Amino acid sequence: MNILDRYHAMDYGPAPEARNEADAWLAARDFGKALFIDGAWKAASGGKTFETSEPSSGKLLAKISDASAADIDAAVAAATKALPKWSASSGYQRAKVLYAIGRAMQRHQRLFAVLETIDNGKPIRESRDIDVPLAIRHFIHHAGWAQALDKDFPGHKGVGVVGQIIPWNFPLLMLAWKIAPALAAGCTVVLKPAEFTPLTAILFAEICERAGVPKGVVNIVHGGPEAGAAIVNHPGIQKIAFTGSSEVGKIIRKATAGSGKKLSLELGGKSAFIVFEDADLDSAVEGLVDGIWFNQGQVCCAGSRLLVQEGIADALIAKVKTRMSRLRVGSPLDKNTDIGPLVDITQLDRVKGLVAEGAKQGAVCWQPDAALPSSGYYHLPTLATGVSPANVLAQEEVFGPVLATMTFRNTEEAIELANNTRYGLAASVWSENVNLALHVAPQLKAGVVWVNGTNMFDAACGFGGYRESGFGREGGREGMFEYLAAKLPLGPVIKVATVSAQPVEQADGLAIDRTAKLFIGGKQVRPDGNYSLAVATAKGKLAGEVGLGSRKDIRDAVSAARGAKAWPEATAYNRSQVLYYLAENLSGRTDEFAARLVQLTGVTAKAAREEVEQSIERLFLYAGLADKFEGRVHQPPARAVTLALHEPVGVVGIVAPDVSPLLGLISLIAPALAMGNTVVAVPSERYPLLATDLYQVIEYSDVPAGAINIVTGRSTELAGVLARHDDVDGLWVFADAETCARAEAESTGNLKRVWSGNGRSLDWASDEAAGDAFLRRAIEVKNVWVPYGD
Ligand code: NAD
Repeated sequence: MNILDRYHAMDYGPAPEARNEADAWLAARDFGKALFIDGAWKAASGGKTFETSEPSSGKLLAKISDASAADIDAAVAAATKALPKWSASSGYQRAKVLYAIGRAMQRHQRLFAVLETIDNGKPIRESRDIDVPLAIRHFIHHAGWAQALDKDFPGHKGVGVVGQIIPWNFPLLMLAWKIAPALAAGCTVVLKPAEFTPLTAILFAEICERAGVPKGVVNIVHGGPEAGAAIVNHPGIQKIAFTGSSEVGKIIRKATAGSGKKLSLELGGKSAFIVFEDADLDSAVEGLVDGIWFNQGQVCCAGSRLLVQEGIADALIAKVKTRMSRLRVGSPLDKNTDIGPLVDITQLDRVKGLVAEGAKQGAVCWQPDAALPSSGYYHLPTLATGVSPANVLAQEEVFGPVLATMTFRNTEEAIELANNTRYGLAASVWSENVNLALHVAPQLKAGVVWVNGTNMFDAACGFGGYRESGFGREGGREGMFEYLAAKLPLGPVIKVATVSAQPVEQADGLAIDRTAKLFIGGKQVRPDGNYSLAVATAKGKLAGEVGLGSRKDIRDAVSAARGAKAWPEATAYNRSQVLYYLAENLSGRTDEFAARLVQLTGVTAKAAREEVEQSIERLFLYAGLADKFEGRVHQPPARAVTLALHEPVGVVGIVAPDVSPLLGLISLIAPALAMGNTVVAVPSERYPLLATDLYQVIEYSDVPAGAINIVTGRSTELAGVLARHDDVDGLWVFADAETCARAEAESTGNLKRVWSGNGRSLDWASDEAAGDAFLRRAIEVKNVWVPYGD
């Protein structure tokens, strides 16, 4: 055997991580008292327990207290009791506690990593080098936010008691992503880990005891869906933060509808890994290993769809197969292991089932020729080629080590394929041409885009998705907002609109009869149903008639809004000029609009004039802010910059209130437009003529066709149509409480972002009914990671 043969024959020897400390910890604990409530360890009130076992062997690890509804009540009561003192403590005080948590975790870093690997099955290299250090960084980073709160988030305060529910794939890291920002914001928490992986959360609760976290500030309860549902439905909780499957995310969206609870959902994904023909293929292959085989593919943002440019497909696939053959599948505690077991037998069965189904639908599934350990829930890394876009492996989140491959011919096709998913969590773009990569990144419907990289995370950079990947961001400044509430100036309670007797007697002094239609795609169009709605003056006479919009009209308006590409693609400066022009043209008709306000609402001439002038001022404000409410550049502790781009939400439905019918409508439309959204607005049901009078102002102001669409009619009905429409990306509803609740509950089709006034209007005349709080709702933050260096 010559030296080269010896070199090739060399293999890794075993390199097991010692587990004796973790075993000693397991042996010393009473897991029958695993609920950490009000700073004390408690058994479940019903005495129930559930089992957690080791995925690499199936052996029982512990029987953990299974929280009942009464235990959740106790945890919420503890968090409520602790809230006033914690939220009133100084930022410095809270920062010291967060810092102490981070430092205490550092001192027990090894134990955390080994326990995580034992409980979850992830390779020790990952828990040791990624999960635990990132979790620690999260606490230390958020110590800074606690102290910066007053200065960086003026007018905001913590939302209160927060219920947090997390999955099993990154048990400690997801806990850190939830607890750190909540504590920094002055909230108290009730957190439930996933039932497969409770152990590191128990160790974390011990850390809280040592780090001086005041009693009741952090409460950790255990259990499954029932305990989760008890948290979600608890009336003493002001915000729910959930990470998990889209299916459960939708259940939670429905359950919280109308409750006024703030909600963030970090859900599943089917992320594209796009390789252009000028990419460095060897780097792309290493990226893929990280992208799809990290944590056995049980990663929400796993690059599970490889989209490769046709010309290099064969070469890349050959390299991928060679690399896959070298992936080491085995004990997760071995430091050389690349692929450990899946978390549970149910997960293994699910992955096997999806692979079999994908093959039945025509995919060719390839696996390296490697032996699996004799026990444990292992699945070989799998490459599926010949995958059609409709194949289950291209559409469903497998949450396992399975890569589906498709090819594309050109950039447009790559973007189209990448966006052909109901999810929108992450994407990777591989090209040596940074111009191309940065051309593609903004066009991908994904909350995070990695250029020539994958699975990069940092506490300073927001993470979260679009569409069925959920809403809200974790990490950084945008993540802090999820735990803060801005004070908005509340207006009156909105009553359910009653269909009053239709006025018939003409108001005096009207000139030639005018027919107010709908405004769709830049044109005035008749309502599809050809029905009209009479509009009464303040004195009960007939002021005019407007079209009675229907489901079909909303559909047309949404399609016009979706097609109005000129608006989101316009420069911010261009949008700003159009908004200024709208203000200018409205100002030319101040008298007319003021007279209309007096006629319809009966306000004084002075008040009417003020409302018109404020509307003009608001248009001016958002015209000015259109090119100023910009993103940021982060400098994470990696050789990369992260561009936090502000992107429009997309098509935004707006249901405007009766209160201040002109100012209210403009206060909602203008920020949405400023950020590049296209709008389908349902104006005040009672005073729609103020909106129909605006058509001409819009027509004269160079607003591209389809950017603003107005459908008059019954607010409740049209709000429901907008909520159920899967091509509406955001919905802002200022209507009665029931309509708001229904809009939230019915938004689950595509998990659109709903902002509801919960049955209250705002005081639109107040300065606080304008500005950043509105603009933030009009954008998505997309974090684009761009590495640098050779
Ligand atoms: P899951 O939705 O089944 O469970 C998540 C958590 O919700 C668990 O704690 C579970 O006990 C609880 N739960 C289940 N049913 C509930 C209900 N009806 N009410 C309240 N709580 C309930 O998800 P999972 O299988 O544990 O985790 C995998 C999923 O998590 C994947 O879809 C993955 O993409 C997603 N995930 C997303 C992110 C992200 O940041 N977007 C991160 C990690 C995981």
